[in-house]
Formats: sequence, C-alpha cells, structure tokens
Amino acid sequence: MNFQEIKALDEGYVLQTYGRNQIAIDHGKGASLWDTEGKKYIDFTSGIGVCSLGYANETWAKAIYDQAMKVGHISNLFYTEPYALLASKLVPAAGMAAAFFGNSGAEANEGMIKTARKYSYEKYGEGRATIITLKNSFHGRTITTLKATGQDHFHEFFFPFTEGFRYAEANSMDSLMAAAGDDVCGVMMELIQGEGGVNPLDRDYVQAVAKLCAEKDWLLLVDEVQTGVGRTGTLFAYQQFGIQPDVATFAKGIAGGLPFGGFLTNEKCRNVLRAGDHGSTFGGNPMAAAAANVVMDTLTPEFLEDVKKKGQYLRKGIAGLNSPCVSGIRGMGLMVGVGVQGMTHKELKDKLMAEGLLCLTAGKDTLRLLPPLVITKDEIDKGLEIMARVMK
Ligand SMILES: *Cc1c(COP(=O)(O)O)cnc(C)c1O
Repeated sequence: MNFQEIKALDEGYVLQTYGRNQIAIDHGKGASLWDTEGKKYIDFTSGIGVCSLGYANETWAKAIYDQAMKVGHISNLFYTEPYALLASKLVPAAGMAAAFFGNSGAEANEGMIKTARKYSYEKYGEGRATIITLKNSFHGRTITTLKATGQDHFHEFFFPFTEGFRYAEANSMDSLMAAAGDDVCGVMMELIQGEGGVNPLDRDYVQAVAKLCAEKDWLLLVDEVQTGVGRTGTLFAYQQFGIQPDVATFAKGIAGGLPFGGFLTNEKCRNVLRAGDHGSTFGGNPMAAAAANVVMDTLTPEFLEDVKKKGQYLRKGIAGLNSPCVSGIRGMGLMVGVGVQGMTHKELKDKLMAEGLLCLTAGKDTLRLLPPLVITKDEIDKGLEIMARVMK
C-alpha cells in the first residue's frame, strides 16, 4: 500500500488521537528508516525512545523468534527463564532489591504509586497517601497518572481523577516544603523532564529532595520511563545524580521495541506488594523479556560510555551550527533538547522531516532528539548535515 491508501484506512477506522507525521514508515536498519514511498530518513526518535538497538537488529529479532518458537506467552502463574534472567541482570545493575514487570510506562508508574501508598498505609495507617509531583512533569495517560502529571491541561475532561497528588515547582525546595504535610507518603519525579521539554533537574536539588524523603520516610519515587535503560549514558539517570530511589520505573527502551515496563524497589519496599496485591496478564511476557535480555546484554560499561560520547558529539555539533533557530541545548547522553526560536518546534520538525531527518518535539518550544543508542557517528553526521541545511 502507498501512503495515501494507508492514511485513508487509518482515517476511516482509527480514533484520530495523534497529531501524526504525514508519512508511513515501512522499514528500517540501524538508525535509518524508509517510508512507503522509498524515501530514506535518519532517525533521531527511536519511536519515542523505544528502539534502543535501532531497527532490524538481528540478535534482538532472533531472540524474539527463538522465544516465540519455544513459548510466546504463558502468564505470571508460571516461572520462565527469560523473565528470571532479566530480573537478575536489571536489579543488581540498578542497585535495587527486586523487580516487577508490566507492559508500559503508565502501568509502571501506577505500580510505583501503589507501592508508596501501601508502604505508608501499613506503617502509618490511613490519611498518609499524598504524593508530591513536579510541575511540568509527565507520568502517563491513565486516570491516576494523568493526575500525577503536573500540567493543568492534562486534568481536563476525565473527572473524577484519583485524589492525592500535589504539585511543587521543579528545582525549588521552598516549593516542595510548601507542598509538604502529614498526609504525604512520597515524592515522584523525572530527573530530566522529557515530555515537558527535556529539562534536567539540578543535582543539588535532587540530592536535597532525597535527603528530605529519607528524614520524613517519604518514598523517593523516580520515573525513569524515558531516561532509563542507557538513554543518558548510565543504566539509570539517578546513577549520575548521586541518589538511590526507593522505587524507580522504566519502560520505553527496555525491550528495544516490544511493549515492556516495570519498576524496581529497594530492600525497604520489596515486600510491600505481596501475592494478590498487584499483577499483569502480559507483564514480563517471555518474548518481550527475551528482547529485554538482548538490550541489557548490549549495555556494557563501554557501550554506555559511548552513548555519553555520542551525546556530547551531537550536542557539540548542534552548537557548532551557530543556528539562529537555536535558543539553547539541554540534556544528557542521547536525550537531547534543542530550544527553538523564530519558528515553532513543529514547523522545524516538519522542515527537517522534509529533508530526511526525523525528530520529536517536547514542551512549548523544544525539538527533542532521542536517537537509537546504537546510532553511528556517520548517521549522526548525516543528521547534523540536514540540520545545517535547514537551520542555517
Ligand atoms: C512516556 C512516558 C510515560 C508513559 O509511558 P507509556 O508507555 O506511554 O504509558 C511515563 N513517564 C514518562 C517520564 C514518560 O516519558
């Protein structure tokens, strides 16, 4: 089918809930993609930070195929090897005590919120269930995670929302103290606000929040759905902020393109959720777990060091364009935000796409770049050449 045929079917039969790019993707290899009309693109999106190993990675595809030919799904009522193996790789590398496996970021955050509330209920009783989250955050699209998201426009239409969230200004301890109270059980944050505009939190602030949480026995809840799994150059971003969360979530990049999410708890929280308290039919599906094992095996210390270097190279390259459209460059590793001025972020994204470079947007005025972690220097150079052409 060509693009127009695919689009007609989509518009005829699919809820139109996305502002879509006007191309249909057919296939890819590494960090390159081809649309249905045969046009080639350099990919700085990895499907919103998901395809960490790029497209058509053979080791990844073979692991999924091999697992599908053994057992593709069996539910959490049985043990499986890829699942247990994945937990044994992820948990120690994250400095945590135990994992729960689900399917998506929002679902992972729901589990983290449940952990915080049950921990507090069992220790302190009722009335201590409020979670402080940060303004401009993004935590998901379920009724609860929409309410956890600290942006007013996500709190429309779908009333009644889950109670028990208050919002504090990022990077302000004064604002956090103003939101504090006897009803609080945790603080939840992204260390780099992704959807909000690729805004890294200050290291001092993050450490002060961690210290306050420890003093008050509030759980420190870190949403690493976007920043996790090597994206910032360490397995988790918190490893570069000098903190250890009580619970941390992950999703997007973990299985390199199959649906997978979950959360990790420290020793203190590992027995909060017990048999019957939480679950998921698809969570930890053996094919997705097999794929995630390939991702974890790829993230060696050398590979992660290289992610940092490629991120620096990309940021330096963008700064070197001296483009009048760029108001600033933010981010860590291969999570890069470029402030856009003189046109909207969407206009710039569309111009880059027309020239063969796929990018994301975030916040009000940010071009967001999340290339596959395996992107080559050559592919980065090609992306920078396109940026130079469009943005000079
Ligand atoms: C994408 C994202 C989510 C939601 O993940 P889904 O898989 O879409 O449910 C939650 N938190 C953060 C920080 C995200 O970037």
